Amino acid sequence: MHPWEAYQGIYLHIPFCQHKCSYCDFISYQGQDGAARARYVKALIREIRSYDAPLPVSRGATVYVGGGTPSLLSLEELAAIFHALKEKGYLHSPREVTFEANPGTVDEAYLRGLRALGVDRLSLGIQSLEDSELRLMGRTHTADEARHIILLSKKVGFTRLSCDLIYGYPTQTAASVEASLTELMALGPSHISIYGLSVEPGTVLSHNLRQGRWILPTDDETGNMYDLIMDRLVKGGYERYEISNFAKAGDKSRHNLVYWHYNPYLAFGAGATRFDGRTRENNPAYLAAYERGEAPEIECLSPAVQREEMIFMNLRTVRGLSLLDYEARFGRSFAFDYGPQIENLIHKGWAKWEDGHFCLTPLGMQYGNLAFEAFITTD
Ligand code: SF4
Repeated sequence: MHPWEAYQGIYLHIPFCQHKCSYCDFISYQGQDGAARARYVKALIREIRSYDAPLPVSRGATVYVGGGTPSLLSLEELAAIFHALKEKGYLHSPREVTFEANPGTVDEAYLRGLRALGVDRLSLGIQSLEDSELRLMGRTHTADEARHIILLSKKVGFTRLSCDLIYGYPTQTAASVEASLTELMALGPSHISIYGLSVEPGTVLSHNLRQGRWILPTDDETGNMYDLIMDRLVKGGYERYEISNFAKAGDKSRHNLVYWHYNPYLAFGAGATRFDGRTRENNPAYLAAYERGEAPEIECLSPAVQREEMIFMNLRTVRGLSLLDYEARFGRSFAFDYGPQIENLIHKGWAKWEDGHFCLTPLGMQYGNLAFEAFITTD
C-alpha cells in the first residue's frame, strides 16, 4: 500500500490558551474555565467516536496534540481522548506522539504523566529567551520559565524535544536573536523550529503596527537575522530538513513530514482539518458550533489542485519532491507537467534535481512562496 492510501497521522486540536499572544491568529480561545474545557473534551471524544474514517489508518500513524495550549488539559482528559482513539481502532503503535506545551503550564508530575500516556516528543513554545521580547509578544511565560521547562523535560526523560523561536518581531535585533538561539542550543533540544514573523490581520501586533506604536525590523535587519540563524544552527549540529525546521540526526518531526509529504491525516477538534488525499474536511472553528456537532465544510480538490499542493508541500522539505511518488500518485510525469517552471527555477538558481527529487536550493528556500507560486496553473 502506498503511504497516500492510508492515514499516516492524527491531529488533535486543543483550542485553549491562558492569554492570546499578540501575533497569534490560530484558533484558540482565552479565559475558558475547567467546565468549558470538560465540555470541549466531551465533544472531541464524541467526534472521534462518531467519525468513520473512509481510508484505513496506518498502524504506525503519528499523533500530534496541538493548539492552543494542550498543556491546559488535565492528564485524565488526555487519557480519555487517547482511550477514544484506541477504542475506535485509530491508535495502535504510533511512530511518534507529540504534545505541545507552554512554559509555566506544567510541572514534573504532569510531564511524567505524559510519558506514562505514551507521549514521546514535546514541542515547547519558547519563542525567545529575552523577557522584554516575550512581554511584547504577549506570552505568559518568562525566559526563566522557558529554561526551566526544557531542563525539566530532559530530566523526566524526554529526549525528543522541539523548541519554537520567532525572529523578525518588533524590538528584536540580530544580536538578541543570536543570544536566544545560542542559549537555546546550549540547553540542547533535539529539534528547533524557527519562524520568521508573519503579521496576521486582526492581531494586536497588526493593530500596533498600523497605529505606529510598534515598528518591525527592516528587511535588511531581518535578512541578517535569517543568515545568522542558518549559520549558527548548522554550526551547532542541527540539520535543516524543512524551510523552518532543524533537527539533530534522526530527530525530524515524523508527524509534520506526513503533511509535507502530502499524505492523508485525520484531525479532530474545533477548526481541525483532515485530509484523505482528495478531500479536506474543515471542522467549525467556533466552540459552540463545534460542540453542537455542526458538520464540517467539505472541500473537494481537483486533480490539478492536488498536484500543485503536493508540489508546494514537498518543496518545503530539503529532500524535495520525489518524481516516482508524483508519477505513482497521479499517473503523470512531473517534468512533462511543469517543464517551463522547472527550467525557470533552475535557471534562477532556486531549484535543482537531486537523486530523483526536484528540490529548492538554499536560495530558493529563502524565497519560498515566490518559488511555490511558479506551480500555480490551471488544468
Ligand atoms: S500560546 Fe500559541 S496558540 Fe496560544 S495564543 Fe499564543 S501563539 Fe496562539
